Amino acid sequence: MTYDYDLVVIGAGSGGVRAARMAATYGAKVAIVEEFRVGGTCVIRGCVPKKLYVYASRFKDLFDVAGSFGWQVGASFDWLTLVAAKEKEITRLENGYTANLEKPGVEIIKDRAVVTGPNSVHLVRGDRDLSAKYLLIATGAHPNIPHIPGAELAITSNEAFDLPELPHSILIEGGGYIAVEFATIFAGLGVNTTLIYRGDCILRGFDEDMRRGLEAGLTERGVKLMYQTTIKALTRAGDDISASFSDGVTAPYGAVMFATGRVPNVHGLGLDKAGVELTSSGAVKVDAYSQSTVPSIYAVGDVTGRAQLTPVAIREGQYFAETVFNNNKQAVDHSLIPTAVFSEPELGVIGLTEREAATHGDIDVFVARFRPMMNTLSARTERMVLKLITEKDGGKVLGCHILGPGAAEMIQLVAIPMGMGASKADFDRAMALHPSAAEELVTFKAPTYTYRNGEKVGG
Ligand SMILES: Cc1cc2nc3c(=O)[nH]c(=O)nc-3n(C[C@H](O)[C@H](O)[C@H](O)COP(=O)(O)OP(=O)(O)OC[C@H]3O[C@@H](n4cnc5c(N)ncnc54)[C@H](O)[C@@H]3O)c2cc1C
Repeated sequence: MTYDYDLVVIGAGSGGVRAARMAATYGAKVAIVEEFRVGGTCVIRGCVPKKLYVYASRFKDLFDVAGSFGWQVGASFDWLTLVAAKEKEITRLENGYTANLEKPGVEIIKDRAVVTGPNSVHLVRGDRDLSAKYLLIATGAHPNIPHIPGAELAITSNEAFDLPELPHSILIEGGGYIAVEFATIFAGLGVNTTLIYRGDCILRGFDEDMRRGLEAGLTERGVKLMYQTTIKALTRAGDDISASFSDGVTAPYGAVMFATGRVPNVHGLGLDKAGVELTSSGAVKVDAYSQSTVPSIYAVGDVTGRAQLTPVAIREGQYFAETVFNNNKQAVDHSLIPTAVFSEPELGVIGLTEREAATHGDIDVFVARFRPMMNTLSARTERMVLKLITEKDGGKVLGCHILGPGAAEMIQLVAIPMGMGASKADFDRAMALHPSAAEELVTFKAPTYTYRNGEKVGG
């Protein structure tokens, strides 16, 4: 049987681009089909523009403490300047991704692809069919929109980056990292920001101390938090949008944004026709090698619902290419993934939370809380929190959680010794770097408290 290609990849995002590029480097004839922009969510409307906007919003905190260092600052902010600068940067990255695909010979097809069988896809705009020995589904995910009256009046993270102007106020629904990061961005840029969440605290699944610390940090920056409430309906009210809440209250906002989770992009993709099974949450069901229930069809990244993060999608794409085109079978280890919330204060985490670790045996917990040095000349009272969770008596490090400046950068480096199975004794052997916040991680003496037989002792 001959095919047009060895591999057709659907979706030129983090996972698809890496898989296509590596497969072509290993000698495969590859086409990648993309219906929007090369680079996918991360580059065009995810991680990259998000972090640029977080940087923009953080000047507010810097201006607030600048006076205590002798600076007098008179600053104003122009939203459209930021939007234009962001667009220039993501276009530069898009061009870079395109060049990186073209260099090893990947054919880029700007179209929407629909799967028509185990070895075939249909191009919707071009109205033609392609055949391939292997198909890779790397179509990502899209924002979930609650089914409520007036939902079409709200925006999602897709639109938030390119608003024609900054709203005077915004209501953000959600409690996950995207909701919290956009609350940080809008509040930092001077927008009156409210975060509404059906649970009782933001960032479900994160360590409790970090959740409460971040909650306090957001509140200090003027973000209003409404818990155990949902939006029931939206209606237009002049230039504003009126939101009706589950508690019966109604209030107007300049904009409303949903950050209520992301849904795998499988709708209308034809996977059912090819016999590809989905999980109960609607993601493509894959094994450890990213192979779907149809042997010639693989899937990587957000569409598989494993961990919706760029480095994970990239690693899955890389290992798919290794396994299928380089005769080097590789399964991605999803067990120790460092993650960050680029909020203000920033949060970086890896490994088990205190609650999880306490169910795994006897543990020691080391906690440091202190004012970041940057704040010591000012009136700011916010504290940084570093927490190290280890097996008892100097054993293996099980979790590390940091809230405060530089948390994400620190956690990336902590991921190295933790991946090597480092113990508390290994951390202690490291010489401290002074003055830094990270030195706390290698200078902890006695545990702040412990858990013995599941019971908290001390603290
Ligand atoms: C606001 C936001 C902030 C984020 N911040 C971070 C962060 O800080 N760190 C982090 O690690 N992750 C972050 N993420 C998550 C990250 O962007 C995703 O995990 C990552 O992009 C997933 O890569 P992917 O290859 O699976 O899919 P994507 O990057 O989404 O790429 C999928 C591509 O497929 C295309 N496509 C879909 N269907 C078809 C079709 N039928 N035919 C042709 N093309 C199709 C889409 O247009 C898209 O370009 C963020 C996400 C969002 C939304």
